[in-house]
Amino acid sequence: MGFETHALIPTLAESLTLVSWWKPVLFVLPLLAWAWAVSTVCDKHAARFYLEREMWNYIHCAAGLLALLAVMFMPSLGEGGSLTWIVSFFVFCAILASSVVAYVVVANRDERVPEGGKVSFELSKIASLAEGKGKKKAKGKAGTSVLVFRRMDKSAVDVPATDSPEFEVRLAAENMLIKALDIRSARIEIAPSAKDAYHILFNVDGVKTPGETMPAANGVKLIDFWKASAKLDVADRRKKQASDLTVERGSAKNKLHIETSGGQSGQKLTVLIDPEQQVRKTPEQIGWTPEQIEVVRNWSTSRGGTVVISALPEGGRTTALYTVMKMHDAYTNNVQTVEMEIEDALEGIRQNKWDAMSEGPDFATLVRSILRRDPDIVGVAEIPDPQTAKEISKADPDKCRVYASIVAESAVGAIQAWVRLIGDADVAAKTLQGVQAEKLLRKLCINCKQAYQPQPEVLKKLGLPPDKVKQLFKKGGEVLVKNKPETCPVCQGTGYLQRDGAFEVFNIDDAAREMIRSQNWAGLKAELRKGGLPSIQQAALRKAIDGVTSVEEVLRITAEATKAAPSAPKQPAKPNA
Ligand SMILES: [Zn+2]
Repeated sequence: MGFETHALIPTLAESLTLVSWWKPVLFVLPLLAWAWAVSTVCDKHAARFYLEREMWNYIHCAAGLLALLAVMFMPSLGEGGSLTWIVSFFVFCAILASSVVAYVVVANRDERVPEGGKVSFELSKIASLAEGKGKKKAKGKAGTSVLVFRRMDKSAVDVPATDSPEFEVRLAAENMLIKALDIRSARIEIAPSAKDAYHILFNVDGVKTPGETMPAANGVKLIDFWKASAKLDVADRRKKQASDLTVERGSAKNKLHIETSGGQSGQKLTVLIDPEQQVRKTPEQIGWTPEQIEVVRNWSTSRGGTVVISALPEGGRTTALYTVMKMHDAYTNNVQTVEMEIEDALEGIRQNKWDAMSEGPDFATLVRSILRRDPDIVGVAEIPDPQTAKEISKADPDKCRVYASIVAESAVGAIQAWVRLIGDADVAAKTLQGVQAEKLLRKLCINCKQAYQPQPEVLKKLGLPPDKVKQLFKKGGEVLVKNKPETCPVCQGTGYLQRDGAFEVFNIDDAAREMIRSQNWAGLKAELRKGGLPSIQQAALRKAIDGVTSVEEVLRITAEATKAAPSAPKQPAKPNA
């Protein structure tokens, strides 16, 4: 017993003198790393993207304090065996790390942080992000292939040898795609721009942004690269061809839909990035007002008749049609579509694709044969000819609901077009149950939008009450980092981020039906407004009042409409909100 005590005491004393100097040092190292990560990475990142910086600093401080308390209250620096202090060391590190990990997880999920601005655990990226040099870093890498392209069969597209001319083309294709992803472009076009020149055109939130212009030979090489990668017939420079690819950039994956066709002036290639994401919206996301959602819900539970869904080209028609179709119960109803291009798979819905190239029936005949199979709901994504409209008007008005998607700029314009297609106002009026028209507008970037007090005259001109609208927002494009203006990293300086819809959604009642029968369009317009539902411009102005968009954007989409549809009635809807 005495011997054991004797043996124990010097060991403990020995360990105290030996160990006490390096153990605290060991604890200081993770503390320094944590302090660096919190102050240099997390805090600067939070400042750049306007995240809740103060709250996060409290959380980090709390974690630091908790880690120190844990060490103080655990027998670590001397008492107890070596296992105990190792455990307390790990607890110390874990508490510190948890605050950084929590920040990274929450910040990377925040919608204000774009793909290129996510916090990464790669040291080089962390350093560059902290310095705000993310872009320069990406440019410095321009000489190497950083993307992986995969075909539908999962095989990767080979990267050519770095000293070959093909490698240059591959890099040009990669750079084009990286730029598109960075500026959130959903659509890229390569097409002839002038004699002997091709240009790249990006489409960001519906607005065209010019990219590089190049000699025609290079443009053709670039198009051929995409065609070859997607296993399309490179030699055929005329026929319309389409295929899909996926692209991997680090851990991020995007689907690419490649379309090509040719004409007199040369070839054209379109790359759609994640096309199904563009058309996948819930009733709450698409932009309907609560009252408009109610109207559409009633459509989805009633039977029979035609509902016309309209917008300008690339104005959200497919998205609106898909969203309405998905509101029907596809398990208790026979729900089908007829489409020229299936843009997303709709669960439980039979989607019939009409192929222009095949020897099969024409579009109207396909629509007729589907309507004859007694479906409950049919969505017809295009009305290419009057015959198709006539077939739809023959559907059983008590049993079969048809959604007809047509190009028009307003609800009244859509009904006029529908009557013209059918060629008989009586027939059109009899089956019409509802109408919807839409304009897409860009949403202000919440990271950099600027509030201002609008001039009463401007408000009056817009038909808004000056005593009620005290504040509006305009686009920013810049943020202040340490009092220095910097291009907003969320919207890349455009001031806008993503899109929203402004809608007209109307039921057709007997009074409206009478106006259609007599083709009294002014009377129809007045009749539709009686229910108190907004016009597109009123709906858009409400979004401006709510700070979702700017007055400039509302005016832009109104001007765009009159430009794009010169045949449409030219009197813009007068808002009286
Ligand atoms: Zn912004």
